[in-house]
Amino acid sequence: MVVTKSLAKTASQSALNQSVQFLKGVGPKRSEIFTKLGIDTIRDVLFYFPRDYKDRTRIQRISEAKIGAEITIQGRVLGIQTRMARSRKSILEIFVGDGTGAIAATWFNQPFLANKFHVGDMVFLHGKVGAYKYLQLLGPEYEVIRENEIDVKEGSVVPVYSLTEHMSQTHFRKIMKMAVHQFAGHIEEILPKEITKKNQLVSINDAVRNIHFPGTFENLEHARCRLIYEELFILELAMALRRRGIKEETGISFKIGANVDTHIRNLIPFALTNAQERVINEITEDMRSSKPMNRLLQGDVGSGKTVVAIYAILAAIANGYQVAFMTPTEILAKQHFQTIQKYLEHSHVRIQLLTGDTNSRQKKDNLDQIKTGQIDLIIGTHALIEETVQFRQLGLVVIDEQHKFGVVQRLKLKKKGLRPDVLIMTATPIPRTLSLTLFGDLDISMLDEMPPGRSPVRTIWVTQDKEKNAYGFIKGEIAKGRQVFIVYPLVEESESFDLKSAVTEARRLQADVFPTLRVGLLHGQMKQAEKDKVMMDFKEKRYDILVSTVIIEVGIDIPNATVMVIVHAERFGLSQLHQLRGRIGRGNEQSYCLLFGNPNSNVSAERLKIMTRTHDGFKIAEMDFRLRGPGEFFGTRQHGLPELKISDLMKDFSILKKARDDAFELVSEDPQLTMVTHLKIRQKVLETFKDRLELINV
Ligand code: ADP
Ligand code: MG
Repeated sequence: MVVTKSLAKTASQSALNQSVQFLKGVGPKRSEIFTKLGIDTIRDVLFYFPRDYKDRTRIQRISEAKIGAEITIQGRVLGIQTRMARSRKSILEIFVGDGTGAIAATWFNQPFLANKFHVGDMVFLHGKVGAYKYLQLLGPEYEVIRENEIDVKEGSVVPVYSLTEHMSQTHFRKIMKMAVHQFAGHIEEILPKEITKKNQLVSINDAVRNIHFPGTFENLEHARCRLIYEELFILELAMALRRRGIKEETGISFKIGANVDTHIRNLIPFALTNAQERVINEITEDMRSSKPMNRLLQGDVGSGKTVVAIYAILAAIANGYQVAFMTPTEILAKQHFQTIQKYLEHSHVRIQLLTGDTNSRQKKDNLDQIKTGQIDLIIGTHALIEETVQFRQLGLVVIDEQHKFGVVQRLKLKKKGLRPDVLIMTATPIPRTLSLTLFGDLDISMLDEMPPGRSPVRTIWVTQDKEKNAYGFIKGEIAKGRQVFIVYPLVEESESFDLKSAVTEARRLQADVFPTLRVGLLHGQMKQAEKDKVMMDFKEKRYDILVSTVIIEVGIDIPNATVMVIVHAERFGLSQLHQLRGRIGRGNEQSYCLLFGNPNSNVSAERLKIMTRTHDGFKIAEMDFRLRGPGEFFGTRQHGLPELKISDLMKDFSILKKARDDAFELVSEDPQLTMVTHLKIRQKVLETFKDRLELINV
């Protein structure tokens, strides 16, 4: 009944890989629509999961309808009428009966709906009961069920799919129904038995059947659990394999004794925080071990990551190795260069800056020195990845602001040494949920304590009518000798949005608001040299105010700047706002973050409120993630995270944890997944991840 007879007989694995055209009702033309949905094979159809479900489990009798209550009813169309109201609005009414009573469904100004219904049709209606001259449902959700459609017999939890305009839910459901009926008994189980048993997971065939046509919500839940588990288990297996691969390599065992330790501490002008001590401990343990370090250091802006990195850098150099320090921008490279140079003033460490704009003559000299080992520490942008950069003995790679770099870049730099240790630093606190998955192959250290003597930035949400006061406040701060950032979301005025831009606003602020003050301008379309000059000028107090786009987002350190104004704050994500706020509050003076914002949605208003309430970067990251979802949190693609079809990292966190534990346990028992019972899952992991994660040795 479903496909050609011969196919039906041999329906099996290979049948699942057949083109979707083999399904009845899907000819060449329809199959184009399927292609648009990303569906090529019958297997793809089965794994095209609903985005939602309609609840028909509680169908009520019309006789039970109470005014003001929401109900779902099923009945037949008894009559249809369209009329004009006095207001000249058209009114469509259909009258539906279910044997216990009758009710009207009423729509205003949608005369075209009349064509959807015919007398005698079976309909489902869901809506709130009102009364006019008789009981009615005003603009209810509706669905018409034609007699010959399978739905009628099909249970009470009805799937809803994401479709294109050329494919109706009803039609798609019908095709799905047939596909499930015919093929959902033939999907191969890839999870090892011990795993399904331990977690009490339903079989893949039941899961696929029930994800589409569950009958009850309980069945649906079991199906979802199974499918979510499988998806996350495969992801975590990839992480476990990678981690295992790294752990099995032999890297450098650095010797870090009391001598080296004292030497390094003598260069640090302050007492370390407990968090810094703890993290330095974790790092030195990694470095001493013969297994390569692969550690992510997370710490909020200002938590003092640099000095931790310096400890690791000096330890490596003390062992006769070279260190590469990679930053996402030139400005940051220069800043790190200067900071580190200051720390190392009284040491013999030879340190060098390599950026895109180092001139070619100079660069060639630099490269020679790196190659021959005359340089101990080289700081630079992704210029460090270029093939021309060769080290004599690279022992440690430090990467700042990890999320700007992808897995691939990380690996490239790493390959310049013989299994060097890797320390990645990020000022974007990453929610635990994400770090488990995105960075599942990394060990994680957290700097969760601020250096002493810092008062938290005061954050104030400034509505439009108060902007003048804010300008006055800014003048007062500048009169005290402080400096101010004013950040705009755009470089230039854009026609499509009514947004203020950095360029025009810098002009306006200088001319109208702060005529006696010095206003600088910084934006991403300026040449590198110009940007650096403006930044340096600001640092050296040649400007009172720096008007900028978000390019000052990362890592800039200007302790004298105590006010951060963010204009159109409603346009920024939470993490970004927090990052920007982190640019101030770096000195001893009280700092202020002023959010100019007129949010037009609850979500953006919520963001601003959260900002005024909390300073904890981890909390903010978690909330940002909740508000925006993992996709937008940062581009997932570059992190080697595949699109998740059914799992939600946040909501399904408890399943994620289980899947992760099981995956790591499995890999510790069978490091290459070569046992017969693991071959299928191994195949699946490879298919899903081979390009993205460079699974080692598998
Ligand atoms: P991050 O890179 O984590 O944003 P930095 O390493 O730039 O933070 O440190 C921020 C500021 O705090 C720097 O000026 C640094 O010198 C200072 N600092 C770091 N650790 C300490 C500490 N233990 N005690 C006092 N000041 C510290
Ligand atoms: Mg930093």
